[in-house]
Amino acid sequence: MTMLEIVSEWMRLMNMQFDDLRRPCTVLKEPFAGYFPEPFLAQTHYVVVPQMPVPAYQFLEQHGLTDLFNRDVAGLTLNNTYYLLPSVENNLRVHFHELVHVAQWQRLGVEGFVTRYLEELQAAGYDKMPLERMAYDLDAQYEAGGPVVNVPEVVNERLSAG
Ligand SMILES: [Zn+2]
Repeated sequence: MTMLEIVSEWMRLMNMQFDDLRRPCTVLKEPFAGYFPEPFLAQTHYVVVPQMPVPAYQFLEQHGLTDLFNRDVAGLTLNNTYYLLPSVENNLRVHFHELVHVAQWQRLGVEGFVTRYLEELQAAGYDKMPLERMAYDLDAQYEAGGPVVNVPEVVNERLSAG
């Protein structure tokens, strides 16, 4: 199996395993009004998990991903589902951040997102990589109270631009 097949399969299994615990993101429609259209929230889910799902260590090591999963990540987005630790379950900024990643997954597709994310991570590191910068910039904009923008549209524009 290629790296991409392994990631896709792991992701599919994770999303299947936690299917019963998934909550629809429409519960966020009021705080995120104007930022995320309701149909976007309706097809997106989140799961609160006691521990972050992590791929097999051997796989992480092979692909230089141990640092990524060693950080204390409180949120992880896999396509249209994101995982949160209980400590950030009520943190709107974290929800917002992960929803930006959902929009990126949608725009780039599974293969496109995973490939680009890993390339950027290798080239720039987590703190400087453009996909994370975009998510942190937008969640900061939300935290600052605006301006209100249609996030999936902004994500599409920024990803098309560069
Ligand atoms: Zn992120």
